Amino acid sequence: MEHPFESFLESFVPQIAAKSRQLNKIHWILETTGTKDAADLYAEFNTELRLLFNDRTIYNRLLDWLRASSLFDSSSKRQLNILIRAFKQNMVPKELLSEISKKESQLAYSYANFRASIDGKQVSENAIRDILKNESNPQMRQRAWEASKEIGNVLAPQILDLVRLRNEAAHSLGYENYFQMQLELQEVDGQELFKTLDALVDSSETAYAKLISELEKKQSHRFGVSADELGPWAWAEPFCQEDPTDARSLDSLVANIDLCDISIKFYQKMGIDILPICNNSDMYEREGKNQHAFCTNIDRGTDIRTLNNIKPSMKWFETVFHEFGHAIYEMGYDPKLPWLFREPPHMITTEAMALLAGRQVYRPGLLSEISKDHEMIKKAEENERRRQLIFSRWVLVMTYFERELYRNPKQDLNKLWWQLVHKYQKIRIPKMRETKNDWAAKYHIGLAPVYYYSYLLGELFASSIEETLLQKTGSKGIGNEAAGRFLNEYLFAPGNSMKWSELVQHVTGQPLNAIAWVKDYCFTLPQ
Ligand SMILES: [Zn+2]
Repeated sequence: MEHPFESFLESFVPQIAAKSRQLNKIHWILETTGTKDAADLYAEFNTELRLLFNDRTIYNRLLDWLRASSLFDSSSKRQLNILIRAFKQNMVPKELLSEISKKESQLAYSYANFRASIDGKQVSENAIRDILKNESNPQMRQRAWEASKEIGNVLAPQILDLVRLRNEAAHSLGYENYFQMQLELQEVDGQELFKTLDALVDSSETAYAKLISELEKKQSHRFGVSADELGPWAWAEPFCQEDPTDARSLDSLVANIDLCDISIKFYQKMGIDILPICNNSDMYEREGKNQHAFCTNIDRGTDIRTLNNIKPSMKWFETVFHEFGHAIYEMGYDPKLPWLFREPPHMITTEAMALLAGRQVYRPGLLSEISKDHEMIKKAEENERRRQLIFSRWVLVMTYFERELYRNPKQDLNKLWWQLVHKYQKIRIPKMRETKNDWAAKYHIGLAPVYYYSYLLGELFASSIEETLLQKTGSKGIGNEAAGRFLNEYLFAPGNSMKWSELVQHVTGQPLNAIAWVKDYCFTLPQ
């Protein structure tokens, strides 16, 4: 006789599959057209899908089955685990859930509509970024940087309100705070996470310190000030998360390249045909369209699409490769997997593939096919190393800050923020920031909480995958059929049939760690 859980799956899964397909379709229309109708429908379907996971009676039944789980095979156990986690986050009291989502949309609205000003004149975020990219007058740069932080004091009270509500929601489910809850619901062991990050800090400290002192030399020279006068305004964007040395010269490498065409050819070498995805995708800029990039699997089947806004730049070269990296992951699920397994177990594993794909555009292997400019190709490789070191430090600031924010939101958060920036990014703390809430100026703190760490773990996993490929195929590169086969079989095929940490072990033979990443990026270049 069939176990009642099996019959439950047979009736429940088709409902969520249909609703999520509807939701994904309208999301695509929303992102490609930006119409109000699409936005309304999206919100409606979103609520409907959420409601399916809101039923306490079903949740209790799932828990009963969990207690009797000895009756199950491992596939049923895993499906039960996936469902319980999806239900659990919706078991917060209804009024609290709706207050949180109301406050989140208010915050998103404030964020989108805020305009900073320089010398009494309103300026857009893009205008500020342009100044930080191009301006050489240090006073002007400083004013632009300060303008980029104005939003912090405006949003901080709203964010703190949300932090309080999110913590309340976490308490109602028995968690210490929201940060802990998010990690646990995503199957991340908090202690392991910070052990990994601490190890990363230690082993990259020397390489990063050296990089910073080289950067400061360049910046001092460029802006005609001494190193102690340099502030965060000397970087090319507001949070010092990207390499500030002019990377735009690398764009000449891709000036006359068809990025779709080169992607198709590259993935062909892995034995993977992405032409159907290209045809399904929306690749170029248009009025009303989302200006960023993403990949979506509409039906957890073959309807996989990417959205891009291609321009002839290294950034878009990397982005297109990145999104197709997500796409081939989605293509690679074992066709026999049940619907609930047809997704990555965590963002970390699909990000690792996407980041690994993105790295290829800085490598001589691919670049020498499109350019003969050896000096530029060498520059691109060095650029990748700097970007990795710089970005890792930024993620550390975000992650350690968020842990503290939810642990004790009443502490002096601005002081904490600058201590962390100083400690990890090694950036001098600017004067007169005591009364500002600079931490609140970062979008993700308010609206994409407990998420940033996945990018860095994705990078670490990407390096471990490359090391594994070297052992298994004799080459670190992914642009060959042996690599394509290995990734398909070990990384993509299992989908969500195991925990992300088990999948890492399954692919690399060891738990996630920083060793391969450190080997890749923390050696010191000869002067
Ligand atoms: Zn991604």
